[in-house]
Amino acid sequence: MTETSTSYCANHPDKETSLRCNRCEKLICSKCAVHTPTGYRCMDCVRNQQKVFETARWYDYPLGFIAAGILSFLGSLIAPKLGFFVFFLAPIAGVIIAEASRFITRRRRSKPLYITITAGALIGALPAAAGNIISFLFYLPQIEFSISLLLSTLWDGAYAIIIASSIYYRISRMTFNR
Ligand SMILES: [Zn+2]
Ligand SMILES: [Zn+2]
Repeated sequence: MTETSTSYCANHPDKETSLRCNRCEKLICSKCAVHTPTGYRCMDCVRNQQKVFETARWYDYPLGFIAAGILSFLGSLIAPKLGFFVFFLAPIAGVIIAEASRFITRRRRSKPLYITITAGALIGALPAAAGNIISFLFYLPQIEFSISLLLSTLWDGAYAIIIASSIYYRISRMTFNR
């Protein structure tokens, strides 16, 4: 043990450290170290690993977007008829849409793809909600009818929010667990 020279972080020349990335052996300080299941790694190694992890092809984005959009649109037509049951059935619809989108994109992975699929579902749910709002304004003088339209809009809104969050949760959790 003759080596007494102090070592410094590769990114922060003023930070003393003895910690090394367990993949590329680069010196890293506590600020640069990322704790992974396999030990401490530098940011570059973590980033490169994530890139390998992303397998989505360019056509997965339109495919996932359209599939989630169409299914979500169909669901949004039913949502107002369900009323309160939207809260129980929308999460199930979310799982079905998530699984269908994963099937169509062959379970390929990438975070932007998950966001694209979720956006597709959200946009697919919009026409029904927008249609209800327009007819609500149109029928405003007929109070009773307009109230029922307002309710439909609320159910469609609840449907859109529940479905988007359950799809994103399902799709990102399922794939990162594998
Ligand atoms: Zn590294
Ligand atoms: Zn550092």
